[in-house]
Amino acid sequence: MTSPLQLHIDLDALAANWRWFAQASGDAETGAAVKADGYGLGARQVVDRLASEGCRHFFFTTHDEIAAFGEIPAGITAYALHGFRDGDVPLPNVVPVLNTSAQLARWKFAAPDTRCDLMLDTGMNRLGFGMGDLSLSDLSGLGEFTLHSHLACADDPDSEMNAAQLSRLHEAAAALQPARLSIASSGGICLGKDYALDLTRPGLGIYGGIPNPAAAGELRQVVSLRSEILQVRDVGAGEAVGYGCIWTAGAPTRIATLNIGYADGYLRGFSNSGSVRIHGEERPVVGRISMDMATVDIGDLDAREGDWADVVYDLPTASAQSGLSQYELLTGLGSRYRRIYA
Ligand SMILES: *Cc1c(COP(=O)(O)O)cnc(C)c1O
Repeated sequence: MTSPLQLHIDLDALAANWRWFAQASGDAETGAAVKADGYGLGARQVVDRLASEGCRHFFFTTHDEIAAFGEIPAGITAYALHGFRDGDVPLPNVVPVLNTSAQLARWKFAAPDTRCDLMLDTGMNRLGFGMGDLSLSDLSGLGEFTLHSHLACADDPDSEMNAAQLSRLHEAAAALQPARLSIASSGGICLGKDYALDLTRPGLGIYGGIPNPAAAGELRQVVSLRSEILQVRDVGAGEAVGYGCIWTAGAPTRIATLNIGYADGYLRGFSNSGSVRIHGEERPVVGRISMDMATVDIGDLDAREGDWADVVYDLPTASAQSGLSQYELLTGLGSRYRRIYA
């Protein structure tokens, strides 16, 4: 049996995107965020490919997520961005990025004199030590650590938050004497050389998302969705299509029903606004997206049951169509696709 739904993942494009960020990171080391199963694309395949490109630092969320991923290849460091929770066990080649005093105490007890990193919250007010929460004496026994922070507005080169957060990180570093500094996600790398520091942590952009206007036109699409046509039917002028009858044919036309729906991450926001290519011709999604199906106005296109449609899913376009963020478009893709890596 075969699947009527395919996710094509272009690992060459992924590697090229990572190299673009590595280049833009200058002398800094370039890692990769692979949390949420490699933004939904398969952390194992992403790590293996990027490791072969020279990436040595991979960012996950929890120890639990890393344990599910499995063994970390030799020479690679996996980071647990959510720190070290009660019940976590130190894992080989895994560095926790600690966020609170409780995590720091827990780590010192569980793994004395073992490397960890620290996350400083420089203004996002989400996760990490606050400015002034740490002093040099708290850090005794930690050895060489990287002090991380994370930007709230890296997608907006005009935001004053970026420079303010960077300067707070430097201010804290003067007191805490970290071995290395890191603040840039994909968007942060696009803000310029000052943000690359010692280590960068791109995610979205390596998966083909555009994290910041500076990356527009520079990155390749990594993910493509293909769905089979389940049925084609004629509809007359004035006839409605799908749940809620939110679209009505203005003239006689033909409707192709595709095997993709919101359970596949093709969410309701694409109702009456998504598009697909069939035999190379772009056609609009009409009517409401169902759980397992979407309907397309194919007009006089000669398409039949069993033909394939390429769902338009370059991330900036699909984001504009659906109102979803590029991140949500990746991480929501669901488990029903046959994933094809090339
Ligand atoms: C997710 C994440 C990243 C990657 O961000 P992108 O915007 O996807 O490039 C980097 N750093 C931290 C702390 C993150 O949580």
